[in-house]
Amino acid sequence: MNFRTEVLLLLYEKAPAKINLTLDVLGKREDGYHEVDMVMTTIDLADRLTFELLQEDVIQIQTYDRFIPNDQRNLAYQAAQLLKETYHVEQGVRMTIQKRIPVAAGLAGGSTDAAAALRGLNRLWQLNLSVDELAQHGAQIGSDVPFCVYGGTARATGRGEQIEHLAAMPHSWIVLVKPAISVSTAAIYGKVDYSILGQHSTEQMVEALNQGDYSTICQAMQNALEPVTFRQYPEVARLKEKMQKMGADAVLMSGSGPTVFAIAKNEERAKRIYNGLRGFCTEVYCVRMGSER
Ligand code: ATP
Repeated sequence: MNFRTEVLLLLYEKAPAKINLTLDVLGKREDGYHEVDMVMTTIDLADRLTFELLQEDVIQIQTYDRFIPNDQRNLAYQAAQLLKETYHVEQGVRMTIQKRIPVAAGLAGGSTDAAAALRGLNRLWQLNLSVDELAQHGAQIGSDVPFCVYGGTARATGRGEQIEHLAAMPHSWIVLVKPAISVSTAAIYGKVDYSILGQHSTEQMVEALNQGDYSTICQAMQNALEPVTFRQYPEVARLKEKMQKMGADAVLMSGSGPTVFAIAKNEERAKRIYNGLRGFCTEVYCVRMGSER
C-alpha cells in the first residue's frame, strides 16, 4: 500500500444481508443460469464499507477477514472496476470491508458488498446514477446484486435480477444459525433434481406479504434448494428439525444454505430459541424484522 496516497474524502455504506422467504426453481436456461421466482428481504445484519477517495487511479480493498479476497475476485472490487471502466473515472478508491455477514452462507454477503460499493462509489465519484441504473450495473456482477442495490422486500425473477418491490415483512423476529460449513451456490444449483421440485409458493407469499398476513407468510416459506443441500449436508436438515422443535412459527434455509433461520412473532420465544442455539452453534444472530401493521 502507498501510505503517501492522499485521502480526499471519506464515506460509509451499510451492506445488509438478505434471507429468502421463498425460492422456486422454474428450470434451467440456455445461458446456463436457472430461472427462479423468489422473495427476498434484507435483514439487520450488515457489513460496513468505508470508501476513501484517492488521487491515484487505483482500486484497493482492505479486509481483515482471511476468507475474503482483496483483489479482483472480491465483488466490491468488480463493482468499482465496472463503474471506473464504464464512466472513465480517473480517481481511485480504497474500500475497507468490515465483515459481519458470515461468508458462503446463503445470505448474499458478497453481492451486498458489491451493491454497497455501487451506491458508495456513485456518491464518492459523483456519477449521479439512479438506483435503477446502479441495479442494472449490478446484474453484470451477480444475479443477487440488483436486489441488494434496492434492499427491502422484493420478488426476484429471471435469474434473480428482475425486481418487483413488495410490502415489508410484518413485525416479527428472525433467529439465524450458520453451521460451520461453507456451501458453494453453483454446486448446489448444479445438483437440483427437477423431478422433486414440488409446489411453487412465491405467488402465495407475495399475496400474504401484500395483505400483511403473518400466518400465511409462515406457511408459504419454502426453498427448492433445501433437499439438495440437506442431502449433501444432513447436519443442516437436523438443525432445521431442532429449530422447529424449539417452537418457531416457521423455519427455512436461506439461498443455497447452510444458514437456517427461524421466524417468531413473539420476542420472548425468539430470545428463547436464540439462547437455546447459542450453546450449540457459534454463529447465531437474532434480528427484528419489519413494521407494525
Ligand atoms: P449468495 O447467497 O449470493 O449465494 P453467499 O452468502 O452464499 O452468497 P458469499 O458470502 O457471497 O456467499 O461468498 C461466496 C464467495 O464469494 C466466497 O467464498 C468469497 O471468496 C467470494 N467473495 C467475493 N467477494 C466477497 C465479499 N465482498 N464478501 C464475501 N465473499 C466474497
